[in-house]
Amino acid sequence: MSSLDIQAQASLQDLNSLALPASAEYFCAVTSVEEIQQALAFAKANSLQVTPLGGGSNMVMAGDIKGLVVQLNLRGISSAAAKNNQVEVTFAAGENWHQMVQHCIQQGWYGLENLSLIPGNMGAAPIQNIGAYGVELCDLFVSLQAIDIGTGETVELDREQCEFGYRDSIFKQAYRDRFLITHVCLRLFQHPQPRIEYPALAEALGDRTPTPELIGETVCRIRQQKLPDPVQLPNVGSFFKNPILPESALKRLQSDRAPHYPQADGRYKVAAAWLIDQCGFRGLSRGAVSVHEHQALVLVNNGGTGAELMALAAEIQNAVAAKFGIELEIEPRLYGTE
Ligand SMILES: Cc1cc2nc3c(=O)[nH]c(=O)nc-3n(C[C@H](O)[C@H](O)[C@H](O)COP(=O)(O)OP(=O)(O)OC[C@H]3O[C@@H](n4cnc5c(N)ncnc54)[C@H](O)[C@@H]3O)c2cc1C
Repeated sequence: MSSLDIQAQASLQDLNSLALPASAEYFCAVTSVEEIQQALAFAKANSLQVTPLGGGSNMVMAGDIKGLVVQLNLRGISSAAAKNNQVEVTFAAGENWHQMVQHCIQQGWYGLENLSLIPGNMGAAPIQNIGAYGVELCDLFVSLQAIDIGTGETVELDREQCEFGYRDSIFKQAYRDRFLITHVCLRLFQHPQPRIEYPALAEALGDRTPTPELIGETVCRIRQQKLPDPVQLPNVGSFFKNPILPESALKRLQSDRAPHYPQADGRYKVAAAWLIDQCGFRGLSRGAVSVHEHQALVLVNNGGTGAELMALAAEIQNAVAAKFGIELEIEPRLYGTE
């Protein structure tokens, strides 16, 4: 059994899409279940908390991370035919999300097109039930395999057990910090099932036939126009969740002006970017951190620190609360704040 390379005081700056200058007390990258067990044994022997890391595109490393950061780099993909011209595809956690979306389209396995170009890896996708352009992971999700950090046991959880919600799952709630996800199984279609009800997508497609390839390309084009590339302008995508409000609260917002989308439960999702924009933050800089000039939901790091970024986030939250009475919730997970 080869021994796992565990580094002390490892820089995480190149491993988070905000490029924040944080370090891990201990760090290792694992490529197999065996290496995960070695990492967990090390953490147990040294009483270290374990923090899973994928592509680092939904983590705000506001300070250094104590304990052992485990980057899940397991690779591999397998498929099995399912009923009704469907196929169940199992992806290892370290596979890159967008590359897998493209691979599936090439194989004639459809359903993921609307989720093109979301940064990050497969293993993190269930954590916040990633979603975009009218589709969420939970629409296609079958099950996942994970290793219990406390016991080292492998478990399988189905869709119901994952308790998916809007940018939410049991892994952000009752099972927070409990599991390392190793594999994700999705059920995809062998015949195209276009989902084009999302207004910006429908508009961009116009009257062209919405093939899966065209939907994928169109989503990529819209995203490239709207969102800065983290490689050029370090960011974590949406910094705040879009608040979901009852009708009475929406009315107070002068509903004719605030962009809002009806939800299945009768409430309305309101565009957080609009709220932030109304408070005058779009394009504003505070030292080396800023609010993106075209998309007020995106905070950009131009060489600043986690503390500077969190100060700007708090300033935005306070301004939106004062003007609209709405508490904006931060979407990515915060680390190193204690
Ligand atoms: C430009 C940009 C655009 C984005 N657009 C979208 C979007 O449209 N929709 C959307 O939903 N999200 C979006 N995101 C957020 C992000 O891409 C997703 O949340 C993605 O799933 C994060 O993947 P990751 O591998 O980078 O996760 P990480 O940032 O590495 O981790 C995120 C969380 O999951 C945990 N985690 C990671 N891997 C595992 C694992 N294998 N097992 C257990 N826990 C794990 C981490 O500890 C952390 O708490 C965007 C981000 C950026 C930078």
